[in-house]
Formats: sequence, structure tokens, C-alpha cells
Amino acid sequence: MNKEAKRVLSFGTHPDDIEIGCGGTEVLLAQNGYMITHVILTSGEAGSDRIAPWELSAIREKEAIEAAKVIGAGGVEFMRYPDGLTGFTREMKVDIIRLIRRLKPHVLFVHERNESSLGHRVAGELVLESMQAASGPWFQEAGGGPWSPDVVLGYEVWHPLGRYELAVDIGATLETKLKALACHRSQTAGVRYDEAIRGLARWRGVMSLSGGDAEVFEVIKASPDVLLGSLVR
Ligand SMILES: [Zn+2]
Repeated sequence: MNKEAKRVLSFGTHPDDIEIGCGGTEVLLAQNGYMITHVILTSGEAGSDRIAPWELSAIREKEAIEAAKVIGAGGVEFMRYPDGLTGFTREMKVDIIRLIRRLKPHVLFVHERNESSLGHRVAGELVLESMQAASGPWFQEAGGGPWSPDVVLGYEVWHPLGRYELAVDIGATLETKLKALACHRSQTAGVRYDEAIRGLARWRGVMSLSGGDAEVFEVIKASPDVLLGSLVR
């Protein structure tokens, strides 16, 4: 991969998904000079039975901006699709194609493809379909030229992946990941996210790295250059 211009685009259905799924790996990438942008597809307005949806979306967007800063991400884009996605439209696809062609990511993070949550799975399909379409001459109404990321990684949220191809040691960045997660106060008030994340990271670390803490990923795409580059140095 070209080490000069390195951009990461991470998609999450809800304002906290990205930090949960790939926050530790993102911190590592940010520390290595990658420019990271978060794209939040819904503002998570259905995430509380105590706070009204219109209030909650504003609160959660603020939390997402705060968390992205902790991670070291340079920007957050809010698509504001309705929480609880059951499908997507052509217009939504054009939005995401436009975004990919504008931001030209080398690395893309998205929900893994076998997500148990319907909202997460639909969001993942929207992003991967758009990514495919962004790589060719199609959907010219989205503007920009064809673009395709070199690496696409699928992350797990609360339903652990049965299979994965990549484990990343996040021992050095776990505390920053937890600090970012703690920004999502509307969500952490009733649930010990920190304990769940520590437990998952340690379990992943022990099973994949023989110790430490890890995040694991489904490798959805690795360009021939990246694959060969790691084989033939
Ligand atoms: Zn979510």
C-alpha cells in the first residue's frame, strides 16, 4: 500500500459501533499517520426508552464526535438514516458511493458480513454494495472517478465472529479505546461496556495471539498488491 497518502474510512450503523468493533486498531493506525474518518449511518435515536428520539440523536452525535477525537479520527460524517434499518434505497447507495469517491480510502472498516443484528447487516450490505459500485463507471450521478480501497475489514460488535482472518494486538491501545467508548455516556449509563470490551479483547488475545488483548476481523478484501507486498518484501 502507498505509505504516502493513507486514509481510513470506517462505517458504523450506530454512533458507538466503530469504537466497539475497531477502535483499538484505529488508534494504532492513527498513531502511524493514517487519516481516519468515521461515517455514522443512523444517529441511534432508538437507543433509549427514557430519552426522546430527537433529543437522543443530538446527544449521540455529540458523543460520537467526542469519541472520534479520542481515537484520533479527523472527522465524523452523519448520514442520519432512520435507526432500525431494514433495507436501503438507490439514493442511499448514491450517497455512500459519493462519499467513497470523495474521501478515497485505502482502508475501509465495516460491519462483518454475518452480523446477527438486522440493522447492522443491512448497513454493511449498503456499504459493500456501494463500495463495489464506486469502483467502476456506474452511478455517475454520484460524481467523482472510480475508487476502490486496498483493504476492507469486517469488525464484530456484540455478536462475536465465528471465523476471522486477522487478529490485531491492541494491548497498547485498549485503554484509549475504552476512553473513547466512555464518551458514549447515553449508552454506558446502564451497561458496563468497559467490562464487556475488556473481556472480549482478552478472550480474542488469548485465543489468537497467545496472550494480551486483540481485535479480530473478517478480511473482506485485500488487494493483490497488499497481499503480495506482505509475502514478497
Ligand atoms: Zn450498533
